[in-house]
Amino acid sequence: MTDGPSYGFDTLQIHAGARPDPATGARQTPIYQTTAYVFRDAEHAAALFNLQEVGYIYSRLTNPTVAVLQERVATLEGGVGAVCCSSGHAAQIMALFPLMSPGRNVVVSTRLYGGTVTQFSQTIKRFGWNATFVDFDDLDAVKAAIDDDTRAVFCESIANPGGYITDLKAIAGIADGAGIPLIVDNTSATPYLCRPIEHGATLVVHSLTKYLTGNGTVTGGVVVDSGTFDWSASDRFPSLSAPEPAYHGLKFHETFGPLAFTFHGIAIGLRDLGMTLNPQAAHYTLMGIETLSLRMQRHVENAQTIANWLEGHEAVETVTYAGLASSPYNSRVAEICPKGAGGLFTVSLKGGYESCIKFVDALEIFSHVANLGDTRSLVIHSASTTHRQLTPEQQEAAGAAPNVVRISIGIEDADDLIADLDQALRKAAS
Ligand SMILES: *Cc1c(COP(=O)(O)O)cnc(C)c1O
Repeated sequence: MTDGPSYGFDTLQIHAGARPDPATGARQTPIYQTTAYVFRDAEHAAALFNLQEVGYIYSRLTNPTVAVLQERVATLEGGVGAVCCSSGHAAQIMALFPLMSPGRNVVVSTRLYGGTVTQFSQTIKRFGWNATFVDFDDLDAVKAAIDDDTRAVFCESIANPGGYITDLKAIAGIADGAGIPLIVDNTSATPYLCRPIEHGATLVVHSLTKYLTGNGTVTGGVVVDSGTFDWSASDRFPSLSAPEPAYHGLKFHETFGPLAFTFHGIAIGLRDLGMTLNPQAAHYTLMGIETLSLRMQRHVENAQTIANWLEGHEAVETVTYAGLASSPYNSRVAEICPKGAGGLFTVSLKGGYESCIKFVDALEIFSHVANLGDTRSLVIHSASTTHRQLTPEQQEAAGAAPNVVRISIGIEDADDLIADLDQALRKAAS
C-alpha cells in the first residue's frame, strides 16, 4: 500500500506497514522466523553496524515481521515510529530508559494498572530511578511534583481497571510547560478509541497482550514515538542529544531527527536490554489488529449495555464505567475517547469480599483470569490477585478495594453475558 494519510482507520488497521512479500508475492505478511540476515558484502555489513544504512542484522534488533507491526501501530497511533518489545512492562522500561539515569524521576498517576504501580514504586529503584505518584485530577499537585530531576510524566488514557479517564490535554500542557515528555499507556483504550498523540502525548506505550492482539495468545509491548519532542532543547536528555560513545560519538537527535527515539530504542535499547518481540508473536498481533475496530465497537457496545444493567442490580453497590451518566468522568468521554469508554470496568458488591469470591467462582461464561482485552469475557478479583502486593491505600486509589471485581467485557452475545452475571450475583448474595 502506498502511504496515504487520507486512508481511514479500518483500512490502515489491515494495510499499514504491509506489502506483498517481495520474494514470493505472499499477500499475508510472512513470519520471518530467522535469527540473522546475510550481508551483501563486508562493506554493507559495516554500514549497517555503523547505522549509516538501515537494514536487518540480527533479530534481537530488527525482524521484517516485527517491522510491519511496528509500522502498523505507529500509523494507527499517528506516530512516526515504534519499537516492539517482549511485554507491556518491557515497553514501559524501554520508554523510560533513554530519558532516565540514576537520581532522575518520573511523575506518575496514582490510577495505573497494578503491575505498573509495583514496577514504578519498587523495581525501578534498582536502576536509581524514582517515581512520584500524584492524583492527576489535581493539576496543581502534578505541577508541584515536577522538579529539576523529572524526566517524564506518565499516565494511562483510560486507566485499567477502568472507570477513570485522564484529562490528557491538561496533563500534556503541564509536561510541555516543564519541557519534559508525556508518556501515555494506551492499552485499555487502543488507538481506535483514543489517540493520545493528538492530545499532546510524546510517547505512547501499549501492552500488545491485551486488545491489540485481542484473543489472549501473545505477550508483547510497543513504544510509539510522536516524533514531535525536541530532545536537544535542553541538556536533560543526553542519551538522545549528546554524542553516543557506542556509535563513535553519533548524536541520535541530530542524525535521525524525529526518528531519534525510535532508532535509539532499537540500536541501544533492544541491542543492550534485549527485550525483543519474537516474529511469531508479531504475526498473531498483526492478525488481531486487522479486526481491532470491529472488536472495539462490540466491546464498547456490550460494556455499555452490561454496565447499565449492573448499575440497576440489587446486589451491586457501584459500577465505575466512564460510559455511565453517573460517572464523574463521563464528561471526558466525548473529548478523550469519543467512540466509547472501552470494555473494562469495576463493580463493587454490597456483600463485600466474601461475596466477590463467591461471584467469581459462580460465573460460567466469564473466566477468572489475570488478563483483559480478550474476545472472551474475563473477570478478576483484583484485591486478592493482581493488586495484592499493594497497600490498602494503593488498592483504593487504583480502584481495587476488597469488594471490587474487575470485569473485561468480551464480544459474546450481551444477553448471554447478562444471564451469566445474574445467576452468579444470585449465588453470591445467598
Ligand atoms: C497488562 C497491562 C500492562 C502490562 O503489560 P504486559 O504485557 O502484561 O507486560 C501495562 N499497562 C496496562 C494498562 C495493562 O493492562
